[in-house]
Amino acid sequence: MSRVTYLDYYQREEISPIAETSRGKRKLFLFRGYTPLSPASSWEEELSLARTPDRSHWVLWRPALTELEIPRHAIALMPNRGERPRQAAITLVREVWKTEKATTDLSPLLEILRTGLLRTFEIERLNDEVWPEEADDTTLLVRPNDDPPGWEIVGRKSRRLKGRVTYGIEMHGPHADFVRSLFDPLRTPCDPCHGSGIYGLPPDEPAPCPICQGRGGRWTAPDAELVAARRAFARIYPEAVDPDPLTITSVEVC
Ligand SMILES: [Zn+2]
Repeated sequence: MSRVTYLDYYQREEISPIAETSRGKRKLFLFRGYTPLSPASSWEEELSLARTPDRSHWVLWRPALTELEIPRHAIALMPNRGERPRQAAITLVREVWKTEKATTDLSPLLEILRTGLLRTFEIERLNDEVWPEEADDTTLLVRPNDDPPGWEIVGRKSRRLKGRVTYGIEMHGPHADFVRSLFDPLRTPCDPCHGSGIYGLPPDEPAPCPICQGRGGRWTAPDAELVAARRAFARIYPEAVDPDPLTITSVEVC
């Protein structure tokens, strides 16, 4: 049984007296991002955390939704057992997203726009826990790009997939920049796709590059150097090494 109480719109008035006591309290901004609801609309997610004045509960808040005339509102609360704010935030966000995935078809974040208390990789991990099916999706989302002519990768999930396919390393975590600086000097971009991993120029339909399978390049350093770099990386971030190298299976224009 979860410790978290989700405050849906109709329950809110009965349960919220406790949550309401934190309305005027200082709030810790967690993050802002957005998620598509349909091709025509999107949902901007912004969450912040507060503690009730008597310190008995943690409360998760969402900003006002002006077009729906909903004021700033508490969305979930849980008893405070002395955990750190970061841990309380993670527990609350996980339960809210799980509930809303089941009841409202909420989809995972397309982009993280700004981070606060929660860091990018923590938000990505929460997304993976709530939408594990997303982690197995090998479709790359793109849109046409004019300059240079080609395709631009759209969204957090697709950029991460591209990184995972390119390096054979799970790219969510504080190590992503380190991966690029360690491995990019050891590779050469693929000719047919100019390093993009995507074959075909707009207005033609894009497809995974048949030469590099979406990896965007090939390893050109001597084997010994590659093995040494992989070993060095695996010693520092063993959990990020991808046991099953992925390929991109399809490219979709959004
Ligand atoms: Zn290629």
